[in-house]
Parts: sequence; C-alpha cells; structure tokens
Amino acid sequence: MSVPFNVLNRPVKVFIDAGHGGSDPGAVANGLREKDLCLQVALAVKAILENEYENVEVRLSRSTDVFLTLGERCRLANNWGADIFISIHFNAFTPAATGFETFRYRNAPNRTRDAHVEIHRVMFAQAFRGKMPDRGSKTAGFYVVKNTNMTAVLTEGGFLTNSNDARHLKSGAFLREVAEAHAAGVASIFTSVKKRQAKSNKPSPSITEWTGQVLRHGERGPLVRSLQEQLIDKGFDLGRYGADGVFGDITRNAVRDFQRAAGIAVDGVPGPQTFRALQAYQPDKGQLVIVNVDRLNVRSRPSFAASAVSGQVRRGEAFTIVERVNVANSNTDMYKLKSGLYITASENFVRTRSA
Ligand SMILES: [Zn+2]
Repeated sequence: MSVPFNVLNRPVKVFIDAGHGGSDPGAVANGLREKDLCLQVALAVKAILENEYENVEVRLSRSTDVFLTLGERCRLANNWGADIFISIHFNAFTPAATGFETFRYRNAPNRTRDAHVEIHRVMFAQAFRGKMPDRGSKTAGFYVVKNTNMTAVLTEGGFLTNSNDARHLKSGAFLREVAEAHAAGVASIFTSVKKRQAKSNKPSPSITEWTGQVLRHGERGPLVRSLQEQLIDKGFDLGRYGADGVFGDITRNAVRDFQRAAGIAVDGVPGPQTFRALQAYQPDKGQLVIVNVDRLNVRSRPSFAASAVSGQVRRGEAFTIVERVNVANSNTDMYKLKSGLYITASENFVRTRSA
C-alpha cells in the first residue's frame, strides 16, 4: 500500500519528539533508561534525515536531557506547522512482554490511519523483524497523538523489561537501525522525501566508510559517522551523541585524544595518517573504563547471560582495561578488566579515558 502525501514547494517538516527527559526517566529496567534511548534515537533520526534524505526539515522537541510537558511538545509541533509528528518511546511491562508496536489517535482520520499503517510496516521490516515480535499498529488516546494537529504516530521500540528486547536495546548498532527505520518510515509517506543520490558511482562502502579522507570540524554525513564509529571502536569517547555524523567539538576532541594516544601529530583534523594509525591502534592497556549509570553489572565471563553476573559497580567507579573482547551472539563488546572480570563496552553505560 502506498499513501504518498504531497507537500509542494517547500521541504517536508518532520517533528521528532524524544519521549520523557530530565526528571522523567520513563521506563527504567535492565540497566536501561527510556529517556536516554529516546534521545539517542531522536538525535540519530534527525541526523539521518538531514544527511541522507532530501527535501526535509527536522525539529526536535528536545535535544538534551530536559523535561518538557506533553502540552509543550504538542505546541512546538503545532506552532511550527509540522507535516508529521513522530514520538519515540520504549516500552515497559512484565518480563514476558516483548515486541514492537506503534500508536495513532483512536479517532484519527483515514489519512493518518493509512500513513500510520505504512510507517509501521516499513519500520518493522527494516529494524525489528527477526529480533522481536510485531505487536502491530494500534490506536490509543495518548496525549501527544491526540493533541497534535498533523499526522501523528507514537513508536514503542521494544520492552526495556524484557531480556531479549533489552539485549537489542543495549546495542548501538540496533539503535542506529531503529533510527534509520524511523527515517525510512517517514520518507515512505512523502513523495518528495527521497534518499540523496550518492555523489559517485563507486560501490557504497567507499562512500560510507571513512578510509582516511580529510575531515574537518563542521562537516556532516556518513563519512563523519564512519570515523566516529571507528574511534568508538578503539575506545575513544564520543559522549552522549555517539556516532551522529556531525563533526563537532566532541569529535574533534576525540580525534585529538586518539592522535595523542597514537603518537602522531595532534591537529584534530583526521586524514590518511590518522586513518593508518587508527587501523593499527590497539587500545592502551592503561585505559580506564568509567561507569556512567547508577549501577552496572560486572561479569565473570564475556557474556550477557544472567548467570555470568558476578556483582555490581556504581556510577563514577573506574577500572583498568586489559582488552576489549567480542561477546558471542551480541553486537556489544565487553572490556576485560584487570580484576579478571568483564564489563559492557556500550557507550550507553560506560565511557573510557586514558589512565
Ligand atoms: Zn514512554
């Protein structure tokens, strides 16, 4: 089914609402906080739509960890005259509840119903199929879908309270897919919102993978994101925005930190030399991992299984990293600590710094 909306003579206005924030954490379970996931995905959706699609303008209800009332969220979107409103949430219920579901207002017009069903279909196929069940596109009376003037959809991208869903939600790669699915869902209902044409005929890896092209502060796009992913992979801190495709101060600092650690010229401008050094770099054995959440499990072996948990550590505690290791059946690595224990390497929970 196709429900193309035509928006003529101007970019489509997409309003992305990151649920909760500030004093309202939303759901909290399995070491995850809903407000953090909502913000991380919302920021990524904005970056993806701006960098990879054309004819689209994006505004966020919040771009930091702040509290907004539901009324304020609706007013921001209504006053802007958004064409579509997407509210990003993650679910919580009993440990058995699992899956992806989305909502529209129960008395929404047919046009919204059709758009919602299509967005749901595109999103499930792109990010969730094979990972968690499809709970379907549903109706409800939620405040933000009721009190917005435009097509409005609220997404619930899995349950923090379910161990399978939570395992996926701890993966930066999965959250990125969820963000891409939001962007693809939005694009699917507007005829004028299309993926940007690649600027070269080379196969896509050469376009999206950073292989030493000179990048500077202020640049954006997939090459920047690839650089950021490579820095994160080597244990350098990109802060809460992670690999967002925007080369700002945090990325420049991480590049400098890396250049310093690698013993090459420190200019904050990554190019061929930085690339070669990054490829060869082994995270320093003197590096520390610092706990960034109130409580976090440490484990007796590199596994996210409950049986591997051997204790808990607290926010701010720092441990010496011996090495970074892959975890079987997970996209998230762990750090082996000097104590012999293991801790997640997910930047949702920890950051690293040189000892
Ligand atoms: Zn929520």
